[in-house]
Order: sequence, then structure tokens, then C-alpha cells
Amino acid sequence: MDDEKPRSIRAGMVETYPVSRTPLGSLARKIIACVCLCTSATAMLVSWIAIQTTYAHLHQELARRLPRSLEHGAVSIAAWQEARRPDAPLGEADRRALRALLDLERDGAARMLLIDPQGAILAAALGHDAVAPSRATAEVLSHPAGMHDYHDADGVRVMGASRDLANGWRLVVEDPFQRAFAPVMAVVARVFAADLAVILFFGLLGYKITTAALHPIETLSEAARRIAQGQFDHEVPELSRTDELGLLTRTFNDMMRRLRGYQSQIETANERLTERNMELQQAKETFEQLSITDGLTRLHNHRFFQDHLTRELKRVSRTGEPLTMLLIDIDDFKGLNDRFGHAAGDELLTGLAQTMSDTIRESDLLARYGGEEFVVLAANTDLSGAYGLAEKVRTAVVEASFIVDESMRPVRVSVSIGVARYQGNRKAFFVATDRALYRAKAEGKNCVVMDEDEQLA
Ligand code: GH3
Ligand code: MG
Ligand code: MG
Repeated sequence: MDDEKPRSIRAGMVETYPVSRTPLGSLARKIIACVCLCTSATAMLVSWIAIQTTYAHLHQELARRLPRSLEHGAVSIAAWQEARRPDAPLGEADRRALRALLDLERDGAARMLLIDPQGAILAAALGHDAVAPSRATAEVLSHPAGMHDYHDADGVRVMGASRDLANGWRLVVEDPFQRAFAPVMAVVARVFAADLAVILFFGLLGYKITTAALHPIETLSEAARRIAQGQFDHEVPELSRTDELGLLTRTFNDMMRRLRGYQSQIETANERLTERNMELQQAKETFEQLSITDGLTRLHNHRFFQDHLTRELKRVSRTGEPLTMLLIDIDDFKGLNDRFGHAAGDELLTGLAQTMSDTIRESDLLARYGGEEFVVLAANTDLSGAYGLAEKVRTAVVEASFIVDESMRPVRVSVSIGVARYQGNRKAFFVATDRALYRAKAEGKNCVVMDEDEQLA
């Protein structure tokens, strides 16, 4: 996830990434679905109104035309009946005459029928696209007046009207529903095609507008996500449009440029702060080192020795390990100073410190106790071990020679060493070591004296 870490502005180039072409997000899908839904609902409503209007118009037309045909047919048949004998049987010539009469009066209807009281068809006039039903339907017989929507004897849906005549005859005029409302069907087909075209058109338009608006917004939202992760080294492609989105992309890039400027300033200030911090840290370490180092011999100083002793006393009181101290004093140093001068004396102190430092173990602490006195704290060392160590130091000093001035004459010195062990009391520890050193001086110098001689055995 390296790319999610904050990146330095000055480390890399500013990146302009392309407008998002990712698959449409849920917002885009919702908008497009909404557009399609609204378009479909509107188209269906308009279609329904158009179809209903056409249907109502045709229905009205039919309701006017069918009764008119019946009216005219009834008048013609009544005239025809008057011209013949009422009780004369109905012959084939009569039926032909009646058919011709009906054909004349059917007024564009698919068929006009003359039926007897039992529902048998006496004569039928048919349009070229009509067939005569085998019998009149019960519907026609039971609804004498008005226009009706029913199925004829052959099961075909028809719109029909009937009228009673003399002799119990009935005149029926019928138009199959499909024929009567064929214009409605044509309108439905056209409206369906128009609906489909409108829905497709607006769906496509909605898709185009949504993608045109949302892709830059998705790009901006991706850019905002990267800013939230602390990445400022990028810009969005500026849209040349003058609309809100164009303005938004330009403003966004302006904001990014400013942010980069601020981040760059912050990084520079941060680097300076880090450098200062490092300098301060180094200075602090140097001061700390100086505060615990003796300026002349570069050994640890008295203060450090005391602190170290405090820690060691705590440790040995826990562990019970033996702890011993060596107090080392240069013999007749005052005389050496007097003979060669203090500078030479300092030189000797430095050389002697080095000699002693080379002699003791690393786990032992050698410090300048003060003046020409040194101290060694020997950890985990009993009295006999400390005595051996003191002898080693004394021998090394005696055997060493030091060049202390321009005369280049080697100078030799000796040291007296007092040794004591810690017995649970800090002050007594010092007193005992001091006492041993005093005895070493008293016993002729250049020797090692333990505070508790009896323990040697
Ligand atoms: P002793 O054998 O009894 O120790 O005799 P001593 O002359 O060494 O006597 P003492 O220990 O009292 O002398 C300390 C002398 O060490 C006094 C001082 O002139 C000298 N001295 C102390 N500190 C320094 C120092 O930093 N530089 C130099 N050059 N001399 C120092
Ligand atoms: Mg001294
Ligand atoms: Mg001395």
C-alpha cells in the first residue's frame, strides 16, 4: 500500500490522471433508472390517453351508425312487408329481395341479419370481410335496444344492435370488434413503436448526460480520496467547459497547487527543524559526556564515579556480589610538580591515566577522584582479587616511564594504593579505603595495603 503513504511534493512530478471511465456507480445507475422509469410512465400515460380517445371516438361513431342502419333497415323492411301478403310463406325470391334490401341498408357494417323469433336467420347481408353466423346469439335476443359488445354464435367478439320488427322478426346489425376498432389497434401499434423510440431516446440521453456529469465528479471524488491520504502530487484534467463542472475542476486544481505550495513549505520547515533537533541532540550528548568526563585525563570524573557507585551499591545489595574499591595516590607528586612544573605534572597525570586504563578490565571503573588521586571500582571482585588488581596497577605504573617536558627525559613515578571491600555502608566503604591508603603511605609508599589484612589468608 505504498501509494497510500503521504508523498513528498518535491520528490516527484505532478500527475494528471484521466477522467474516470470506471463502470457506472450506483448513483449513475439510479439516475438512469429514474429517467427510464419517468419516460416510460409518461409515454404510457400519453399512449393510454391516445388509445382511450380513439376508442371512445370509434365507440361513439359506432353507437350512432348501427342504430341508424337499423332505423333505415326497419323502414325499408316495413315497406317491403306492406307490399306483400302478410301470411304468404317466405320463398327464395323473398329471401333474395330481403338480402338485397339489407345489403343496401347495412351502411358499411360487416353484416345485417334478419332473424325470426326463434333466432333462425331469415336473410343476411355481408360485407366482403364478413361471414354469416349460423344463428343469432341469445345476447341479441335478450337485449332488444342499444348497442352491445358480445360474442356471436361462432364465438367471434362483435359490437351489435338489434330492433324488433312486425311479425316478431328482428333486425340485427353487427361489426366484429376487430374490424370496428381496427384503427385503435393501428394506433396501439404506432403508439407502442413511438413509446419504444421515446424510451430508448430518453434512456440514451439520460445515460449520456449522467456519464458526462458523473465521470468528472467520480474523478474529483477519487482525487479527494487521495488528498485524504495525504497525496497532493496530482491534478484532475481540467474541463474546458464553462459550466459548474468546468469551474469545479479548475478550482480543484488551483486548490491542489496551493496545497502543494503549503506542503512544500511545511516540508522545508520540517527538514530545518529536524536538522536543528539533531544538532541539539548532538550538543546535548556532548554536554552530557563533558559533564561526566575529566577534562585533563579524559577519564570519568568524580561525579560520574559517585553516580556509578550508587547504582553499583544498589545492584550488589540485591545480588550479594562482592564489590571492592582501590584508591590510588601518586607518591611525592608535589615534588615532581616542583621540579618539572605543573604543565609537566599534568602531562604525567594524563600518561598515568592511560597506563592504568590499559591495565584494568573493562568491567572495572577507573575515574579521577581528584588532584593526583584515582579510584577503581572493581565489580564482582573480592578482596584478594582487588589486591591482585592493585598490584597489577602499581607494577604497571612503576615500570612505565613518561616524557613530560622538552628535555625528553623519561620520568618514573610510583603509586600507593589502598584497597577495601564494601560491607553494606557507603561511608564506611570510603573510610576503609582511605584508611588503607593512609597506611600504604605510612608503610613507605609504592605499595598496596588492604583495609582488612586478616582476610588475605
Ligand atoms: P604523597 O606521596 O604523600 O602523596 O606526597 P605528595 O607530594 O603527592 O603529596 P600530596 O598527595 O598531598 O600532593 C598533592 C599534590 O598534587 C599537590 C598538587 O601540587 C598536586 N596536584 C594536584 N592536582 C594536580 C593537577 O591537576 N596537576 C598538577 N600538575 N598537580 C596537581
Ligand atoms: Mg594526594
Ligand atoms: Mg600524592
